[in-house]
Amino acid sequence: MTQSVVILGGGTAGWMTASYLRAAFADSVDVTVVESGRIGTIGVGEATFSTVRHFFDSLGLSEADWMPECNGTYKLAVRLENWRAPGTYFYHPFERMRVVDGVPLTDWWQKVGETDHFDRDCFLIPWLCDAKASPRYLDHRLFEQDFDEDPDRPLYRTTLAEQNTQFPYAYHFDASLLAGFLSRYAVERGVRRVIDDVVDVRLDEQGWIEHLVTREHGDLTADLYVDCSGFRSRLLGDALEEPFISFQDSLPNDRAVALRVPVDTAVQGIRPCTTATAQEAGWIWTIPLFDRIGTGYVYAADYCGPEEAERVLRDFVGPAAADLEANHIRMRIGRSNRAWVNNCVGIGLSAGFVEPLQSTGIFLIQHAIEQLVRYFPGTNRDPVLRDTYNLSTARAIEGVREFLILHYRGAARVDNDYWRDAKKRRLPDDMAIRLEQWQSKLPDNDTTYPYYHAFEPYSYVCMALGLGGIPLRHPPALDLVDTRAARHELTRVRQQARKLVETLPSQVEYLSRLR
Ligand code: FAD
Repeated sequence: MTQSVVILGGGTAGWMTASYLRAAFADSVDVTVVESGRIGTIGVGEATFSTVRHFFDSLGLSEADWMPECNGTYKLAVRLENWRAPGTYFYHPFERMRVVDGVPLTDWWQKVGETDHFDRDCFLIPWLCDAKASPRYLDHRLFEQDFDEDPDRPLYRTTLAEQNTQFPYAYHFDASLLAGFLSRYAVERGVRRVIDDVVDVRLDEQGWIEHLVTREHGDLTADLYVDCSGFRSRLLGDALEEPFISFQDSLPNDRAVALRVPVDTAVQGIRPCTTATAQEAGWIWTIPLFDRIGTGYVYAADYCGPEEAERVLRDFVGPAAADLEANHIRMRIGRSNRAWVNNCVGIGLSAGFVEPLQSTGIFLIQHAIEQLVRYFPGTNRDPVLRDTYNLSTARAIEGVREFLILHYRGAARVDNDYWRDAKKRRLPDDMAIRLEQWQSKLPDNDTTYPYYHAFEPYSYVCMALGLGGIPLRHPPALDLVDTRAARHELTRVRQQARKLVETLPSQVEYLSRLR
């Protein structure tokens, strides 16, 4: 029997959900998207996490299909500038740790590393970022042979949970172009698109949604309603009154101001990473797209006003910012107590958001969509499916929260109230214990947040080593064993990195060919 779904909202969350549901269920599920012509989308959200590739694979889309249309670029890492001290930087790469004699290379590095740069000593990707290189050769081979693939292979459907691999890159794209691209994809495959405002939500006696009332298209009725209405949370928060759990006590940044800066990439090149530059009251993102840079200052209103934030951002960008219009955004940081209530599931900003550091908004959307397909309610409305979905999505965002808190807690900066207060904020349960454990032995599977939330122990290791504010010691066992194999591996990283930098094309060159 055909099921029906109405999605409220046509931003990234709405169109990702619509296109994925069609790809997963085809004609077994009728999908309608209703989006306002009056209320805009958030207009940011242009850097992703390395899992996003599986989303495009699931839709049967290759990079050549969508990247040129959405001004897409590759992202191999996050480059964190000034978190330790002004003028410093380090990378958090999408590259798993090498292991030598059963010990992660970064643990060895603590004992025998020859430079201060754990990232460039232990990983290849930082070298590629510094060189503005493409992760692919002009014949499309990937720099990392483990992931080499046949360009003619059929794209396959896969989920995050099945992924035992760490794909070595994510993407940057223009959020509006991507929403447009996905809406065309979805409509071509049978999704109904209604451009109208939802002006009322009618509930039945049990508090389930009976229908949505639109201004001009009458009532919209479905078996399941997906709330992708953004921070408004029109269904989950407004109509169903599900409580919101704020993360403000541990992550105070609640505002952003953003600019879209045109650049001549042929001259400047495209660094294949997002840059997060720490500031007086937050941090600035720099996201290089094919034809422009997306940039924005994420800050805490308790420490900085909007005019001051805009001034800081304009100074950061320089003369290119002169005539550009700034987009000021209020952020609701936290999560809905339950993301799925009765016959309504919130996906995207309506269900929760943990500031954009490390680009997890779209990851959380992708994860929620996959879980929705896995626990799709069917006709019997089994509450266990709903409850399991709620557990899994809540754990994912709580894990991300913990990882982000580490950035502020672990940063060596203590130069003003904003950074000093960051060291005193409340920590989630168990995180204080984990922070202590990391001082004696870098984070591993036993000492990091235990549920799936995309970040693996090696990401925590990069933060602990790069941020500089957590006192660290190498494990004493490494004083008792032969270090030759580890030294050899550190030399090998350097040799491999130099060869890649010499042989890979620049990102501009590769992407120009892809067009
Ligand atoms: P929106 O884009 O706000 O869309 C809401 C939709 O609902 C719109 O189509 C609107 O018209 C519709 N709507 C609302 N009310 C009604 C109504 N009554 N009737 C009809 N339609 C209605 N994520 C990342 O992964 N990477 C990043 O780099 C990143 N950066 C970010 C930076 C900032 C400052 C912020 C705030 C977020 C960032 N995010 C990022 C998160 C990302 O932007 C969002 O997760 C993503 O864009 C999804 O937004 P959305 O679709 O939930 O909401």
